[in-house]
Amino acid sequence: MMIKKICCLGAGYVGGPTCTVIALKCPDIQVVVVDKSETRIQQWNSAILPIYEPGLDEAVKKSRGRNLFFSTDVDSAIKEADLIFISVNTPTKTYGFGKGRAADLRYVEAAARRIAEVAVGKKIVVEKSTVPVKAAESINKILRANMRPNVSFQVLSNPEFLAEGSAVNDLLNPDRILIGGDQTSEGKEAIEKLCWVYKHWIPEKKIITMNTWSSELSKLAANAFLAQRISSINAISAVCEATGACVSEVAHAVGTDSRIGPKFLQASVGFGGSCFQKDVLNLVYLCECLNLPEVANYWYQVIEMNQFQRTRFVRRITEKLFNTVTDKKIAIFGFAFKKDTGDTRESAAIYVCKHLLEEGAHLSIYDPKVNAQQIIHDLTRPDITEEPEKVLQLLSFHQTPYSASEGAHAVVICTEWDEFLHLDYKKIYNSMLKPAFLFDGRKMLNVEELLAIGFQVETIGRKTTR
Ligand code: NAD
Repeated sequence: MMIKKICCLGAGYVGGPTCTVIALKCPDIQVVVVDKSETRIQQWNSAILPIYEPGLDEAVKKSRGRNLFFSTDVDSAIKEADLIFISVNTPTKTYGFGKGRAADLRYVEAAARRIAEVAVGKKIVVEKSTVPVKAAESINKILRANMRPNVSFQVLSNPEFLAEGSAVNDLLNPDRILIGGDQTSEGKEAIEKLCWVYKHWIPEKKIITMNTWSSELSKLAANAFLAQRISSINAISAVCEATGACVSEVAHAVGTDSRIGPKFLQASVGFGGSCFQKDVLNLVYLCECLNLPEVANYWYQVIEMNQFQRTRFVRRITEKLFNTVTDKKIAIFGFAFKKDTGDTRESAAIYVCKHLLEEGAHLSIYDPKVNAQQIIHDLTRPDITEEPEKVLQLLSFHQTPYSASEGAHAVVICTEWDEFLHLDYKKIYNSMLKPAFLFDGRKMLNVEELLAIGFQVETIGRKTTR
């Protein structure tokens, strides 16, 4: 029996796009994406999807209603599916043991319990969420402890490596597909079936199979390596600013070494997003639990370096603005954690704004894909401010970067949206108070051109202001 019906628990940034691409490439498979959030499912069934990803609208339109469905009927979807993806959120725990470190697995557990309760027949349960090593064992335990007659489960690990902002392209052309499972004959049969799904569009040589624990750890290790690379170049950027070296030149020199390679060497105000920090912390916690404090400390430095980079950037803004930002208007260009996504989870912009708001700066914010409601939510969270009313009075939202920067003391670039490359910076300069400052947290603009216009420019990894 091959796979005829797939269901996915969790219609988020991973579940939605992943299932859209599976439906697109496997017309012989029916794919149902379910979520406990009615709003999210309504949005997936509407013209305006709940997430922004280049190419996603078109891909959804092609398959939705044909072999791709979005529903809140979790139980029916589980019952009918041969293969069930668990793609629910696994945030960092904010309470109890492991607070601030461990992955909060309550949504994964709830999903496993739901599957155990309603499943009928033979099911392959695929862990798509990013989880600590041995989470598959917990899922297995829950499923088996609640097993009824005529039901059987095989649990696989199949971590997702897509990056937000390029999710559709990453899913269509992944570097690799990783599948971990039991090395028993039933386990191997389940692995074979999931491979069959991916082989619809992915070359066999890109599909890597291994044992479950290696697969779970590989996902954490891959994200830890990526985050570490960003923290490494950011650490070098601090040295550049202090010495007159330029981080772009250093990154170019370092990256041309074929053992190192040029990718992911872009210095910035720091990494964000829902995954890097959470997954490194997850690894740190795992090491602590395994009584490997030296390894835990080693990886924790990656997070500390990221926090240092954000703080350093805000300190620089304040220092250059004559040591006070109180009552000054500062334009924030970009609020998403990176370009081509509307996601703001762990965005560096949140932390930059937090510090500026604490000093009483007035922030005029522009982002092409993040709405005011989301920004207000992020900046009035209890972990960001104790004075949400005061914060609200300090914020304004703009439809264009030009209106955001009118009358401002400074422009701060927090997200590397392509449109910021092509703005009329002369017009922006003319509308600002003087001296007009531009802080480029993404190191994306041509410094010489900005200096020629008259800006005081501060960019990551380079001494610039005259
Ligand atoms: P998300 O928060 O966008 O989506 C998760 C969805 O699961 C939510 O809509 C939530 O309502 C739903 N959900 C929770 N419990 C449920 C249940 N019992 N039944 C049905 N629906 C339920 O999260 P995401 O960004 O899609 O991430 C999902 C997982 O994938 C996480 O473990 C994450 O670490 C991992 N991941 C994320 C990315 C990324 O770029 N976002 C990339 C790779 C891996």
